[in-house]
Amino acid sequence: MEYLSFVDFYGLRIVKSEKAAVLKAFHRVIEMDGNLRVTTMNAQIAYYYLTMPAYQAALNDSLVVPDGVGLSWAVKKRMNTRINRFPGVELGIELCRIAAESGKTVFLYGSKPGVAEKAAAFLERETGVRIVGCRHGFNDSDEETQYGICRKISESGASILFVALGAPKQEIWLEKYFEKTNARIGIGVGGSLDVWAGVVKRAPTWIQRMNLEWLYRILKSPRKKFKVIFQLLKFISIVNSDGIDGSREEKRRYE
Ligand code: UDP
Repeated sequence: MEYLSFVDFYGLRIVKSEKAAVLKAFHRVIEMDGNLRVTTMNAQIAYYYLTMPAYQAALNDSLVVPDGVGLSWAVKKRMNTRINRFPGVELGIELCRIAAESGKTVFLYGSKPGVAEKAAAFLERETGVRIVGCRHGFNDSDEETQYGICRKISESGASILFVALGAPKQEIWLEKYFEKTNARIGIGVGGSLDVWAGVVKRAPTWIQRMNLEWLYRILKSPRKKFKVIFQLLKFISIVNSDGIDGSREEKRRYE
């Protein structure tokens, strides 16, 4: 029997457990019956969660793992507790390792045409996983096209689905369509396919160590700079506007 511990952040349960426990929970889901949607939450996703009701619904039924220093800061500030961080780029690689060990396969959905194929070649080389399908993320949003994509994923037999459509699109897509893909784990991975494909570089290690990768990304993407900075400032002001309300943790049982 496997336990994960959580912290309650504005009504949303965020994983507090160590990485090993989270990976064990993933292992169990793909080895046994059941399925799981996973959200890696950074400050931008937390901002959407706090301000978009449609997004709240998409996140409430998913396993939310913290990704990013902004969210760690907010949880520390609000709940006076520390949480572990799971950067999506690294979690994705761990998931591929788990799939490879268990003989399960992965499907990559999202990013610009050609990117997922390059990311697949990298992940196969790096982890030994078998990627059984790729699909770019610039499709018509009509139901017919989306159901077609779900069919393709389902026919591939993939146990793990990476969705890289950016937030909040990918979480909303997963909420609506994940069940139809017949995958066991569906996870929103944001710009990770671009990183694995080598289209976008991660920040140098010293910047990662200083927890400033988010700033590096903002500065590297001028188009989004103002929107993201605005969202981060709003998020900080929302979190700052209420005091610490004590820590609430709970255990959730995965069977
Ligand atoms: N993307 C996509 N379809 C869309 C919008 C975005 O496939 O309609 C992809 C985009 O190419 C990138 C990934 O989603 O690979 C993440 O996009 P973005 O950088 O905008 O999101 P963020 O990383 O900020 O969540």
